[in-house]
Amino acid sequence: MTTWNHRGSLFVVSAPSGAGKTTLCQRLASELENIRHSVSYTTRKPRKGEVNDRDYTFIDRDTFMRMVAADDFVEWAEVHGNLYGTSKNRIEEMIVSGVDVMLDIDTQGAAQMRKLRKAVCIFIMPPSMEVLRQRIDTRRSNSPDDIELRLRRATDEIREYKNYDYVIVNDRFEDALAGLNAIVTAERLRTERINPQWVKNFGI
Ligand code: 5GP
Repeated sequence: MTTWNHRGSLFVVSAPSGAGKTTLCQRLASELENIRHSVSYTTRKPRKGEVNDRDYTFIDRDTFMRMVAADDFVEWAEVHGNLYGTSKNRIEEMIVSGVDVMLDIDTQGAAQMRKLRKAVCIFIMPPSMEVLRQRIDTRRSNSPDDIELRLRRATDEIREYKNYDYVIVNDRFEDALAGLNAIVTAERLRTERINPQWVKNFGI
């Protein structure tokens, strides 16, 4: 009998574009067992190197809106002119099988998840606006208009930091990763995660 409950936890991770969120989440998933990233649906076109059903499930707007009507998403939002949504089925399957799930979603999606009170919400900040600009500039796949749009949006997103449970400043990558690891590890040790059947072994 295991010492903990089998249901996994939900972690929402948001950050302005260029704060290093994707790399942080990928590294965490490779270092910790039993945690996975939920693949979102999007109407955005794939970028170079992106793979369908690995980075996103790429669908058209009509299909997306049909899924909205069918109540298939636990949350969805329009970001930079494209629609993004988290599938209820995908996260439920992982949670039921005892896997912790990371949702890499924007601040609007995080607000919807917060209302459901089921997720630990983590905000990743860049160390400064200058660093954020540099990081966005080095992503060649973004057009200049796209870069400006993302910088403007970054300011709006950073304003939302107060609504999260935790804030990680991604200055030194290894420190930020250690912070993220600490949050997930602590969450896994919460009293409610302990398996009551197992505690009965102590005669209580
Ligand atoms: P990108 O297109 O650069 O991969 O992502 C743009 C933004 O959309 C990021 O802030 C990312 O976190 C957010 N995003 C990705 N998937 C989802 C989702 O399923 N729901 C919401 N609300 N935002 C998402």
